[in-house]
Amino acid sequence: MKDTFKHKGLRQKLVEIVKSKGIKDENVLEAIGNIPRHLFMDSGFLDHAYQDKAFPIAADQTISQPYTVAFQTELLHVKKGDKILEIGTGSGYQAAVLCELGAKVYSIERQQELFKKTSKFLPKLGYRPKKLIFGDGYKGLPEEAPFDGIIVTAGAPFVPKPLLAQLKIGGRLVIPVGDDVQIMTLFIRKGAKEFEKHELGDFRFVPLLEDKN
Ligand code: SAH
Repeated sequence: MKDTFKHKGLRQKLVEIVKSKGIKDENVLEAIGNIPRHLFMDSGFLDHAYQDKAFPIAADQTISQPYTVAFQTELLHVKKGDKILEIGTGSGYQAAVLCELGAKVYSIERQQELFKKTSKFLPKLGYRPKKLIFGDGYKGLPEEAPFDGIIVTAGAPFVPKPLLAQLKIGGRLVIPVGDDVQIMTLFIRKGAKEFEKHELGDFRFVPLLEDKN
């Protein structure tokens, strides 16, 4: 696994692209500048790793577009030490961004192949999520709740109730909602039963799939 000056240079260009598209959070931009995205992708795609595009990974899934990762992460308002739950571990790139921000990261993946691969891979790069879980993200992670933030990285046909229930007061859920096209939606928990909802534009994700069992 190699990270070269060439890769670092390409990464700085990617940071500029993401910034020019409207991302302002310096910590998020720094995280993108630090993470060797090319190592999260299958070798055939190495040359494309620093384009602002989604790309295929194993099990018919994708690594999200860097701008989308940055946009969702910015909405989460992550502070050092925050407890963050991710649904859809995939390549682990988003989880690495959260680790870079100093979050305690919990992430759920329903494809065993990706779960295994990413569980081995992240520590090799020095990223240590608190827990990676093989399971169904629709249920969240009740045994570790409540969370400061929950981020869903697949397109959800509806907002799973357990995810709202597992937020702290003041906590944030960032979730793309819809079938073919998803509306990026931010929920902020204001009280036991009160949520503020913001809709923030259209995105396209692979689907959040229902449990196979
Ligand atoms: N965050 C990832 C993006 C992966 S794409 C990254 O940075 O690379 C979305 C992921 O969500 C896929 O890996 C897919 O297998 C997973 N997924 C789909 N439905 C799920 C569910 N119900 N629970 C957990 N993960 C799910």
